[in-house]
Amino acid sequence: MLSDDLIRQGQHVMTVCNACRYCEGYCAVFPAMENRLAFSKGDLTYLANLCHNCGECLYACPYAPPHEFAIDVPRTLAEIRLGSYEEYCWPGPLSGAFRRHQLLTALALALAAVGLLFASTLLAGRERLATAHPGGDFYRVMPHEVMVAVFGGVSAFVLAALVTGVVRFWREAGERTAVPMPRLALTRALGDAVTLKYLHANGVDCTSAEEVRSPWRRWFHHLTFYGFMLCFASTSVAALYHVGFGWRAPYPYFSLPVVLGTAGGLGLLAGPAGLFFLRRTRDQAVLDPAQRGLDEAFIILLLLTSLTGLVLLVLRDRAAMPALLIVHLGFVLALFLTLPYGKFVHGLYRTAALVKYASETFPSRSHEEHEGSRSSRTNTQT
Ligand code: SF4
Ligand code: SF4
Repeated sequence: MLSDDLIRQGQHVMTVCNACRYCEGYCAVFPAMENRLAFSKGDLTYLANLCHNCGECLYACPYAPPHEFAIDVPRTLAEIRLGSYEEYCWPGPLSGAFRRHQLLTALALALAAVGLLFASTLLAGRERLATAHPGGDFYRVMPHEVMVAVFGGVSAFVLAALVTGVVRFWREAGERTAVPMPRLALTRALGDAVTLKYLHANGVDCTSAEEVRSPWRRWFHHLTFYGFMLCFASTSVAALYHVGFGWRAPYPYFSLPVVLGTAGGLGLLAGPAGLFFLRRTRDQAVLDPAQRGLDEAFIILLLLTSLTGLVLLVLRDRAAMPALLIVHLGFVLALFLTLPYGKFVHGLYRTAALVKYASETFPSRSHEEHEGSRSSRTNTQT
């Protein structure tokens, strides 16, 4: 939760930055900050979720530790972000999961889900697991209706939890739920979200430490995000085939759902693996140590869900298919259940913050002017 101490620390940092304004060209956080004279809890959670933790402002700051002002914007905003996930979580009693979510708890949850699915499939008939199913017919292992009931029910709960969290965040930030938004502002916000504009706030490559730049953090984020979206598209097309046309899975290797799912799965292998490695090698000064478990648990669950899905695809005609299917579904179930209580929420809150930022600044040209000053500062610095 957002403690009074953390709010005071956020107010201290933002007040110093608001007087200094040296970093105003780096990202949307600083122009949004300059629109305010005081910082409420809602302002701080908005600014914190606008921050992409690129690290630029820490390396530029003459007041960073060991200076007595101890200005570390990326870490302070990261701590407030974690507090905001807990603050707006639904149902509230589950907010503690954000700090307890570790690699081991994620794996334990996935194994419990696999065990539960194994046990229920065995109860439904031992032959479902023991027999090779010609053509990789998944529904002989777990009937389509059962899959829809389990994953549809979980998805409905997850959607309700995620929407409630975003609405709480939006209201605390001072917005009404239904606010008319200029279409161009919305387009700009979504464009900034899907291109990860502020992840490399200096306009070139992402920083991993002072004077250390590489494009990998951006590329691994893109692979993860677009991999996830391709898998979602694959599932949606498969559902349309099944419900709309009566075409049952399994689909051929070069069918649309399989091609989308394979491309998405590969993205979800490479992206999370790269992010896991980068998380461990980044400058720890910009990170909130309390979020290490949260980050790694989400990354590893994504990676293992993808890995088990691809192995299942390759071996779907083999006798091991029923066991592989259950293992894969167990990981999918664990991933779904943890979405509202894990790192996944940062994408939603950040997008909402970008939409608010676009609505605050549109049609003002202020940020483009700031970006002009950023370019000239970058040139001066280099
Ligand atoms: S991070 Fe430091 S240099 Fe940048 S605006 Fe804040 S006080 Fe100024
Ligand atoms: S996005 Fe980068 S420059 Fe902007 S506040 Fe966050 S760490 Fe600082």
